[in-house]
Amino acid sequence: MKCRGDPCGRPVTYDKLVVDYNNLVADYENLVVNYNNLVMEDDALVTNEDVMHWLQRTADVLRENRTYLTELDAAIGDADHGINMDRGFSAIRDKFPTMEAMDISARLKTVGSTLVSTVGGAAGPLYGTAYLRAAGVAAGKQELTSADVVAMLEAFLGGIVARGKAQPGEKTMVDALTPALNAAKQALDEGATLEKITDRAATAAEEGAKATIPLLATKGRASYLGERSIGHQDPGATSSSLILRCLAETCAGK
Ligand code: ADP
Ligand code: MG
Repeated sequence: MKCRGDPCGRPVTYDKLVVDYNNLVADYENLVVNYNNLVMEDDALVTNEDVMHWLQRTADVLRENRTYLTELDAAIGDADHGINMDRGFSAIRDKFPTMEAMDISARLKTVGSTLVSTVGGAAGPLYGTAYLRAAGVAAGKQELTSADVVAMLEAFLGGIVARGKAQPGEKTMVDALTPALNAAKQALDEGATLEKITDRAATAAEEGAKATIPLLATKGRASYLGERSIGHQDPGATSSSLILRCLAETCAGK
């Protein structure tokens, strides 16, 4: 048998076919390796610089939303949530220069302790504990994987629940952060990118914050209003959704 494409006109032997077949297999395996490397490259990591960007963006967005958050709190609380969050993050902003030399965990720890010491309202110790717990997840890590970010979100919510003892449905921050964590976990399981995971978490938090409108408050200052708390969006759930949107924007801008 002659191979028409063989320039030397030599017969194509069985051995040559085997060699060709093995080369094809090797090429295919290389393709798989390259594809996996591409997938791994696509799964971006959160760096120390990204954490700084997230905190800066959070400070800016909370300042922009100071009046909005305070108006939400005027309806069912004591009209200070925007002021509280801006005060806390302004104090954090003042510490940015000293935070430059810190690793991710130390930065988050500084955020937590600053919120506890500068914010008088319930949000100070609640968010303070959340950031301190998140710092624990980041301990010893120079970069965070998608799984680390989801674990950090879980610790963040865990801190708020440990401190405030609220369950979902009580019209608090927990109603934004619980669906956010569930969405993030599902996205992680599906192999979504960091950008997608954080975007889905932020969207779920925004929906969760809106879904607090018809709820009756049974925790915090709003619970003093009883039935009159129904029909208003919870300020803390709203600030939680802003914080997560800032994280998603940071991850999208990488
Ligand atoms: P304060 O209620 O002391 O004035 P803020 O106005 O800063 O504090 O924060 C109010 C927000 O805190 C509420 O909208 C709610 O989301 C949140 N909050 C209050 N109590 C709890 C709690 N026990 N668990 C979780 N979140 C809570
Ligand atoms: Mg208040």
